[in-house]
Amino acid sequence: MNVHDSEKVIGTLLQQGYSQVEEPEDAGLVLYNTCSIRDKAEQKVFNRLQNFKRDAGKGKVFGVLGCVAQQEGEKIFDRAPHVSLVCGSASYTRFGEMLVQLEAGNRRVTGLSLDTEDTFDTPFTRRDNPHRAYITIIEGCDKSCAYCVVPFTRGPERSRTSESVIAEARGLAERGYTEIQLLGQNVNSYRDPSPAGWDFATLLARVAEIPGMRRVRYTTSHPRDFVKSIVDAMDSNEVLCDHVHLPVQSGSSKVLAAMDRLYTRDEYMRRIEWLKTARRRYALTTDIIVGFPGETERDFQDTLDLLDEVQYDSLFSFKYSPRPNTAALAMEDRVAEDEKQRRLIVVQEKQRAIQIRRNAELIGGIQEVLVEGRHQALGQWIGRTSCNRTLNFTHPDIGETSLVGQYLPVRVTRSGPNSLVGESATVV
Ligand code: SAM
Ligand code: SF4
Repeated sequence: MNVHDSEKVIGTLLQQGYSQVEEPEDAGLVLYNTCSIRDKAEQKVFNRLQNFKRDAGKGKVFGVLGCVAQQEGEKIFDRAPHVSLVCGSASYTRFGEMLVQLEAGNRRVTGLSLDTEDTFDTPFTRRDNPHRAYITIIEGCDKSCAYCVVPFTRGPERSRTSESVIAEARGLAERGYTEIQLLGQNVNSYRDPSPAGWDFATLLARVAEIPGMRRVRYTTSHPRDFVKSIVDAMDSNEVLCDHVHLPVQSGSSKVLAAMDRLYTRDEYMRRIEWLKTARRRYALTTDIIVGFPGETERDFQDTLDLLDEVQYDSLFSFKYSPRPNTAALAMEDRVAEDEKQRRLIVVQEKQRAIQIRRNAELIGGIQEVLVEGRHQALGQWIGRTSCNRTLNFTHPDIGETSLVGQYLPVRVTRSGPNSLVGESATVV
């Protein structure tokens, strides 16, 4: 989501006559797009801002964008006085105006209101990848997970009209894009605000029908809003990729209730069952938080059992990080830092063993990849499968013609915990 926000901000800058430089040292305007989902991400921003402090006097203008900007607001001007712009994502629609203020010499420009019904739709998105593109369909979040800062930094949920999403996707397909990823904090609570009134499953099906579209992905899904019609839409059209990211956070219904996740373990498992009994085999991935306040050894064991039961293809795991404004801040029974670390390692080791096994099951089979690049040193092409695995492969046509952007069948010959290796099954 942040990468795509940056693409839109860069597009706006280019449209206003700015040009991009390779190194921050050469820039007149330096913008940091920031994440505050965990404390570590937030600390990084302040460290980087310190690195450039000495350049402020050399005529450079600094801005902080995104979630840390929204969360810390004008306090950033005190902590890093060389910063002149502080702007949260809900104010990006006013970004052009803010640039004008900066150019006029204003050194305290802010965009911090969360009171918005607008989404940041712009025809000026600067996409570097010519084959794969992101499209935001919904911004903000109306859930209130007890650990999460997003509702406070990205504002209330607001969906784009289906008409504007389809027009953007069609335009991209006409320009040669073949893969699209629909984005939102919670894509499946998408509700078309126009009279057509499409839900997420309908939008998904319609985007996949656009001529020229080869792959459509989406992220992220909240399990509570992940309804059966989404699986039915996926089953009906193979353009919708063989992958679902369904963050569970914990395998313990007690912890899920404390997190205010709005589903129990059984309800989550019902969704997994729909996917496991679907017509196609879907890769399943998830997010896990360890060490949420009150998580006992028993609760943690429930999470490990869930990993055994689901057999995810991959996961992101995090130590619980207390965030400002969130309900969990006031919760007792904090888990000690070293215990969180221990649990994180246990989760990662268990998952690594699962991935080694699952990836090995693919050896001998053929996967279609979208070629994304080349590993010159290894003499391999880098491909991505529909199920979102990296598959590096050799091809008889060694580097003479660029294969990037092509879809090719590849036979899997080897596997590791995080990727596959193979050889092209055709000669182009
Ligand atoms: N909206 C998505 C959802 O509900 O699953 C994900 C949003 S968040 C950007 C991505 C992941 O960061 C979450 O799924 C969660 O695992 C993790 N996360 C969020 N807040 C966290 C916190 N305070 N500490 C640790 N991990 C956190
Ligand atoms: Fe955060 Fe929960 Fe919203 Fe996801 S659904 S962004 S975890 S509050």
